[in-house]
Amino acid sequence: MTHKLLLLAGDGIGPEAMAEVKKLIAVMNENGASFVTEEGLVGGCAYDAHGAAISDADMAKATAADAVLFGAVGGPKWDGVPYDVRPEAGLLRLRKDLELFANLRPAICYPALASSSSLKQDVIEGLDILILRELTGGVYFGEPKQITDLGNGQKRAVDTQVYDTYEIERIAAMAFELARTRNNHVTSMEKRNVMKSGVLWNEVVTATHKAYSDVKLDHMLADAGGMQLVRWPKQFDVIVTDNLFGDMLSDVAAMLTGSLGMLPSASLGAPDAKTGKRKALYEPVHGSAPDIAGKGIANPIAMIASFAMCLRYSFDMVVEADRLEAAIAAVLADGLRTKDIMSDGMREVGTVEMGDAIIAKY
Ligand code: ATP
Ligand code: MG
Repeated sequence: MTHKLLLLAGDGIGPEAMAEVKKLIAVMNENGASFVTEEGLVGGCAYDAHGAAISDADMAKATAADAVLFGAVGGPKWDGVPYDVRPEAGLLRLRKDLELFANLRPAICYPALASSSSLKQDVIEGLDILILRELTGGVYFGEPKQITDLGNGQKRAVDTQVYDTYEIERIAAMAFELARTRNNHVTSMEKRNVMKSGVLWNEVVTATHKAYSDVKLDHMLADAGGMQLVRWPKQFDVIVTDNLFGDMLSDVAAMLTGSLGMLPSASLGAPDAKTGKRKALYEPVHGSAPDIAGKGIANPIAMIASFAMCLRYSFDMVVEADRLEAAIAAVLADGLRTKDIMSDGMREVGTVEMGDAIIAKY
């Protein structure tokens, strides 16, 4: 069975990081895999070419693909472009049109990097947790959303947190399913003590859990959860939470593990009624890093680890995903480091050398 991938490398270091994944895909295809890749433009480069952050033609390719690999978008060159065609609008359109309601952000601490972290080693050594953030609902999208002039020198800003049962159900179900492939433990976070949406969130997660009674479920208030995440993150396996809390908590979790250049992510949609396949987009957590673009020093690990997530979640290639993650760990254990994760006694390498070393270990 062939796997159709759309590669949207984007701007800045996006294409440099994507080039390493392309090499890997070529090697995997030589060894019997059957990836078919197409490429498209997103972000500033798409604006330059078509005047849009992603063209309708590339959007159609994304819809037809089994998975999208996304690099990064934006940079100072496009600071002045109109709001609705700004580079980030490309990613937002992909998320919206593909209905990617679940954002998966693993926080993994590679053993070789634990000792160079600024955090206590026992806190992060062996850390492997997954934050599941609801991505298409909540206060970022709820209506009304407005600023009103009250006419007395005062203004009023309103954002609205809205969640419907089905939105909570589908992300909760995904959390339990993911936990089954990991350590069977889900922690749901909300603020039911002060928010009605928190009350419903708690209720629906608890009800959804009935079909997954083999998985352990805990509830935590999101503020306490944030504190626990920093104090002893290894108590968690899968954390499921709403859009706003997830945005913050996933950034906190990210910093437990060190560099932005290491962090992958996945955004998944609902299973297709006919094929059971989910729409999916995989991207590094980092941005286009214009400050280092074109220098050949970007860390390609976040992009490569995003591809590992693609193997795992879109193609059920669990063995290959494990092998790729092990190859990353092995290269780090050998002492190879890009500039962003460099420490004393290690060997500094560029983007291409890091990519080659990982592919050689795969
Ligand atoms: P965005 O708004 O897209 O999130 P940003 O400017 O907030 O972008 P990044 O583009 O991720 O954030 O860059 C933040 C810093 O981290 C920059 O100094 C950049 O050089 C560094 N950085 C980000 N990604 C990498 C990487 N893959 N390798 C090395 N350094 C990186
Ligand atoms: Mg940023």
